[in-house]
Amino acid sequence: MQRIALLGLGTMGAGMAANWLTKGFPLSVWNRSAVKAQTLAGKGAKAAATPRDAAEGADCIVAMVADDAASRSVWLGNDGALAGAKPGAVVVESSTLTPDWVRELAGHARAKGCGFLDAPVGGSRQAAASGELRLFVGGDAATLDKARPALAAIASTIDLLGPAGQGATWKLINNQLIAAQVAALAEALDVARKAGFRPEQISSLIVNGAALSPIVKLKLPRMLERDYDQTDFGLSLMLKDARYAAALAQALGTPADMTSAAVSAFSRAEAKGLGAKDFAAVAG
Ligand code: NAP
Repeated sequence: MQRIALLGLGTMGAGMAANWLTKGFPLSVWNRSAVKAQTLAGKGAKAAATPRDAAEGADCIVAMVADDAASRSVWLGNDGALAGAKPGAVVVESSTLTPDWVRELAGHARAKGCGFLDAPVGGSRQAAASGELRLFVGGDAATLDKARPALAAIASTIDLLGPAGQGATWKLINNQLIAAQVAALAEALDVARKAGFRPEQISSLIVNGAALSPIVKLKLPRMLERDYDQTDFGLSLMLKDARYAAALAQALGTPADMTSAAVSAFSRAEAKGLGAKDFAAVAG
């Protein structure tokens, strides 16, 4: 079995770790707040003191952390995972990040003699827990084949989209669409409520109408009930994704009016203290 190291045990990392353990992969884990790694140690993982310790001896080193700054801090520096990575290991960055940072990281990994894949994920808490994530992969086919046994244990589909950075790029395009739809839904619900429609009417009209999409279907009940306490996908993380997506559009010289509007809507919600709630809380 491939030896796996996982850095980051939040909502998504915890689900990924559970699948690797259930499927018998030797797993070492590190998390900034050590208590989450200790919990997994009770379930068969090895809890490491630093990302470097976690990475030592691993065939496949995977990060699942919040943003570019978190990713930099887990991979680079004396205690960073690249310092412990053995030549020939595959470095997999699964967090949702900017393509610029991901391509820079690919260079650092190659300089250590490691393979590199960016493999951000589609699917949320439930898909991570059931091992049915969708992976948007950037890298080369030979490196993906090397990492495939580990990745297949957490994913139902694995799409190789192009060279390093293309997985990260598609993930931002995907979330640009999600952020804009959910922000538009929040706005529409506000108007509908103020115009006198009842929640059951609103629900039935949207669910049976042309504006329904998988993400609208998923978030609508929680937005109607203002039920944001179980955070499947944090609002601040969605704001980060919308900001990264707007910057990508700008770098490519294309307008991103809808994405910028979503950034405004999620920023307002974050300013109200809703950043740690599920991103459905953009409906206030
Ligand atoms: P989460 O539950 O908020 O967990 C975030 C993780 O990042 C935690 O392990 C946290 O450590 C760590 N972290 C944050 N800042 C750090 C720093 N400066 N240094 C080191 N570690 C740091 O997030 P998540 O929902 O699992 O999401 C993880 C990634 O997947 C994000 O990039 C997110 O955008 C992406 N994603 C999420 C979903 C989803 O539905 N949740 C779906 C697709 C992609 P602590 O435990 O110490 O705070």
